[in-house]
Amino acid sequence: MKANPRIDAEWLHGRLEDLARVGATAGGGVTRLALSDEDRVGRDLLRDWMEEAGLAVRVDDLGNMTGRREGRERIAPVLLGSHIDSVRRGGRFDGPLGVLGALAAVRALDAAGIETRHPIEVVNWTNEEGVRFEPAMLASGVVGGRFDRAYAYDRADRDGVRFEDELRRIGYLGREEDRPESAAAYLELHVEQGPVLEDAGVPVGVVEGIVGITWLNVTVEGQADHAGPSPMRLRRDALVAASRLVAAVDRLARETDEIAVGTVGRLVPEPNLINTVPGRVVMSADFRHPDPATLDGMVERFRAQAEQLSAETGVSVTVDRFWTSEATPFDVGVVGEIAAACEELGLPQHRLWSGAGHDAKYVADRGPAGMIFVRSRGGLSHCEEEFSEPADIEAGANVLLLAALRLAD
Ligand SMILES: [Zn+2]
Repeated sequence: MKANPRIDAEWLHGRLEDLARVGATAGGGVTRLALSDEDRVGRDLLRDWMEEAGLAVRVDDLGNMTGRREGRERIAPVLLGSHIDSVRRGGRFDGPLGVLGALAAVRALDAAGIETRHPIEVVNWTNEEGVRFEPAMLASGVVGGRFDRAYAYDRADRDGVRFEDELRRIGYLGREEDRPESAAAYLELHVEQGPVLEDAGVPVGVVEGIVGITWLNVTVEGQADHAGPSPMRLRRDALVAASRLVAAVDRLARETDEIAVGTVGRLVPEPNLINTVPGRVVMSADFRHPDPATLDGMVERFRAQAEQLSAETGVSVTVDRFWTSEATPFDVGVVGEIAAACEELGLPQHRLWSGAGHDAKYVADRGPAGMIFVRSRGGLSHCEEEFSEPADIEAGANVLLLAALRLAD
């Protein structure tokens, strides 16, 4: 076996540019919604590039595309993948980096004359973003066993067009037996979509897992009243009370630790008139943390503060915890190999948690998984300004390559 395989950075940047032309927006981003004509054109290109790299391409019943490179033994493959669909006016690297980075890794193994013990499969997961067909990570969720296929097929976009019908229309409705196999390991290279790596001054991050998320609906009931005749001491102003809850969400997360986050992103006061004391406020709260007990603890402390506020002010507060996505810690062995790959390349081993969902979450239901993050400029994503430096992309792809080689051999 020859030593030191490395990514062909020029090839990778060229293909990222080619793909970014499909659905390109005036502002330098892309709109390539799942199963749209743009997605089809992107898929056709990807299929060509997979075949050019000598991979055997198959498409499954959810449109997931898999390109296979055989190993020395007929055992479970090492899967490398991500998605090529985008949000509306999204960035050019969110998704494609993980698919084309994987393809660049396979090409690097070929160029170095390296055969691996495990087969390697490059996967493009359908409908990761969930913008056109909700929910997100739909196809990896079916493969991982979270959703039924019938449920996925019946998802419809805002025009009522069904997922299954669009798969068939663009020519990417394949067979169930062509799904990606249960993997010996799964690796996903992705842009960070946050500012942590930039803040730390490191190009690449070793992802420890995907945080748990919980959503609350909070209703504050006071008394609507005329803004003029009602004296301050007799008011039950729902918005004033709600503003203290907004501050509580922020403070609870800050007091917990460096990783915890808490956000009130939606707040609707009623009747929302300039000369009326607000009688009712409906607001959201979003808490995230890797540790389920810590996440529960934040919610409990929030409830306690809501009760205290209610006792102090006479408004009533109801807290409905209506949705939770449990945390997914990645496999320690896979995470360790990613860290070792960073070390081999002389890169810092900066560990962080993902605050957003990725296909790796559902793939992790079926086997050991891990992710590699590449620094995002300004932490921006899901927008046209999303950008990662070419040198950072190259570094991330090389980490993917070396981690894949360690896991596949
Ligand atoms: Zn993504």
